[in-house]
Amino acid sequence: VQLSGRNGYRFYDEKLSNKTARDFLMETKLREALLSDELQVYYQPRVDSSSGSIVGLEALVRWFDCDGKSIRPDEFIPIAEDSGLITGVGEVVLHKACAHAKQLCDAGYPLPVSVNLSPKQFEDSGLLNILDDALFNSGLDHSLLELEITENAVLGNLAESIKTLELIRSRGIKLLLDDFGTGYSSLNYLMSLPLDFLKIDKIFMDKLFQDTKHENIVEFIIVLAKSLGLKIIAEGIEEPEQLDYLKRKCCDEYQGYLFSKPLPFESLLELVGDNFS
Ligand code: C2E
Ligand code: CA
Ligand code: CA
Ligand code: CA
Repeated sequence: VQLSGRNGYRFYDEKLSNKTARDFLMETKLREALLSDELQVYYQPRVDSSSGSIVGLEALVRWFDCDGKSIRPDEFIPIAEDSGLITGVGEVVLHKACAHAKQLCDAGYPLPVSVNLSPKQFEDSGLLNILDDALFNSGLDHSLLELEITENAVLGNLAESIKTLELIRSRGIKLLLDDFGTGYSSLNYLMSLPLDFLKIDKIFMDKLFQDTKHENIVEFIIVLAKSLGLKIIAEGIEEPEQLDYLKRKCCDEYQGYLFSKPLPFESLLELVGDNFS
C-alpha cells in the first residue's frame, strides 16, 4: 500500500471504507428486514429429465426492500454470513419452506423442498434444534425436507461434518451436495460423505457444447454420482439441446429457466396443479 504513493494509498483507503459503509448499511437494512418480515421464499421446480414432471422444489430467498427494489441473494447472503444474521435468515427460509411444502402436500402434491444452507449455518451448534422446530411447527413429513450444502461447508473438519450430516439424515432429511465441481472436490471425501443427491454446477452446463472436454466432464460426473449411489441433478438448464444431452446421459433431474424460473408460492401452486393434472 505504501509503495503505491500518497494518491494510490488514498484511493485504496476510500475504496475500502466505502465498501465497509455499504456493507454496514446493508447489514442494518437486513436486520430491519428480518424484524418486519420482508424476506420471501421463491421456488424453482426440479424436473425429472425423462418424464418432464416436477419432482421437487428448491427454496430460494428473495428480499424486496421497502421501496419494492429487489436485492439479490448473491449480494446479501455473504453479508448475512459475516454479520451472523444468516442464522435468522436461514430460520425464516426454513420455516416458510416447510410451511409451504406442507400446504402443497395437503393439497395433494407431496413434493420435497430443498433449502440452501450456508457454511456458517452448517457449523452452527443450534442447527439441529432449528431443523426440529421447523419440522415440528409445520407438521411436514421429514422425508419432504432436503438440505443443500456446499463442498466448502463440509471440508473444514471432515469428521465433524460427517457426524452432523449423519444426525441430519437420521431424522429422515435428505442431503444434497450443491455446486459440485466448483470447490476442492476430492473423490476421497466424496466417498465418505453421507449424501443423497449431487448437483452439477451451472458453469459446466454453460460450457457444455464449447468443446468435447466439457461434455466428457459432465458425463464423468453423472457416472461418478451413479457409481456412488447418488441421484444427479443438473442446474441452470436454459437450452433444449442441454436437456437432450442430459436425457442421453441419463441424468436424473434438472432445474433451469428452460422449465421455469423461481416462482412465488402462489404461481408455483398453479404450475404444480397444471403439471400434475
Ligand atoms: P444456488 O444455490 O446455486 O442457486 C441457483 C441460482 O441459479 C439461483 O439464483 C437461481 O435463481 C439461479 N438459476 C436457476 N436456474 C437458472 C437458469 O436457468 N439460468 C440462470 N442464469 N440462473 C438460474 P439466486 O436465487 O439468485 O441465488 C443465488 C445463490 O444465493 C444461490 O445459489 C445460493 O447459493 C444463495 N441462496 C439463495 N437462497 C438462499 C437461502 O435461502 N439460504 C442460503 N444460505 N443461500 C441462499
Ligand atoms: Ca442451491
Ligand atoms: Ca447450485
Ligand atoms: Ca451457487
